[in-house]
Amino acid sequence: MTFIEEGAALLPELVALRRELHLAPEVGLELPNTQARIIAALAGLDLEITLGKKLSSVVAVLRGGQDGPTVLLRGDMDALPVTELSGVDFASTNGSMHACGHDLHVSGLVGAAKLLAAHRDELAGNVIFMFQPGEEGDGGAGLMIEEGVLQAAGDRPIAAYGIHVAPGASGVFTSRGGPLMAGANELRITVHGSGGHGSQPHTAMDPVPALAEMVTALQNMATRRFSVFDPIVVTVTQLAAGSAINVIPDTARLGATVRTLSQESVDKLITATKELADGIAAAHGCTAEVRFDVNYPVTVNDVERTREAMDGLRSLFGDTRVVEADNPLMGSEDFSLVLNEIPGTFLFLLCSPADVDPATAAWNHSPRVLFDDAVLGDQAAALAQLAFNRLAVKP
Ligand SMILES: [Zn+2]
Repeated sequence: MTFIEEGAALLPELVALRRELHLAPEVGLELPNTQARIIAALAGLDLEITLGKKLSSVVAVLRGGQDGPTVLLRGDMDALPVTELSGVDFASTNGSMHACGHDLHVSGLVGAAKLLAAHRDELAGNVIFMFQPGEEGDGGAGLMIEEGVLQAAGDRPIAAYGIHVAPGASGVFTSRGGPLMAGANELRITVHGSGGHGSQPHTAMDPVPALAEMVTALQNMATRRFSVFDPIVVTVTQLAAGSAINVIPDTARLGATVRTLSQESVDKLITATKELADGIAAAHGCTAEVRFDVNYPVTVNDVERTREAMDGLRSLFGDTRVVEADNPLMGSEDFSLVLNEIPGTFLFLLCSPADVDPATAAWNHSPRVLFDDAVLGDQAAALAQLAFNRLAVKP
């Protein structure tokens, strides 16, 4: 039997687990019910289980029948503060939603643990199953690294793999070597002027026009100072100034999300945004305070591991179901922190339901997004195969 057939046999229980999690999503770093559900689902598999201290993570180690290296498989666990409008009959009613499909990630990783545990004797080495809370901006991967997930089996993993679901033609895996997802950064600028009467701007130092110029200048910076071959995205999402309509305020503020595909861009942004804000503020007789925070780094797939992973999945699922991604996505992932330490691969598994047109499907984080959990058997099989291919006992 192949992992596909064995995964298919697990499908009913994986779907049931996914739907149970979907019905009762939890947000952030503390996900006690999700954690309890994972522990229950792994019961009887003879795994070494460690629970997180600063977050409700689950780390499970499977020891193979022979000694050998270690491979890490990861699934994130957290939901989003989104009120669900998907219309499915197992929709959440608690005001949060698994709108990024992490319920499938948990279930798929449980499936992989079951498949690999059943083949323990054929493995020379260990598998770490990393069930991670707090992916959505809470830095759960970083906390798990601090708490020792990479040392959970003793030696550091030689490879790390993760799968993320997304809308698209159901059952297709897609990835690429090199940068796969953008780094996420936060830019905050406060312009300090001096307030006054709205009718007499010449007696004040109005910070509002200076801030308004910065909003458009940032777009010029993105294309004039950064190469089209290493692009960035700057989106100003927050503007704040003043409280009364006839009063010039002392300060005006903006917030922007900035996406990058290289560390060089991050380094350059730190100086370029400061020069831009200082220069424009000075031209208006104001001063600027600039804060640039790196949230998640760029998700970079190891080129060699990715080629091997894609080839392995092609042998399992056939060429038409494994597609090289043309471009990176400008979304971000904290699995990037694992891939900064361990060479590995992050892949997307597309899974729009048959009656949804992938071209117009609601995307991850939408309250209307739909994921077809019929892929869970294949998702478990893919993760199991990626680990198996690196650890199988050599005849
Ligand atoms: Zn996600």
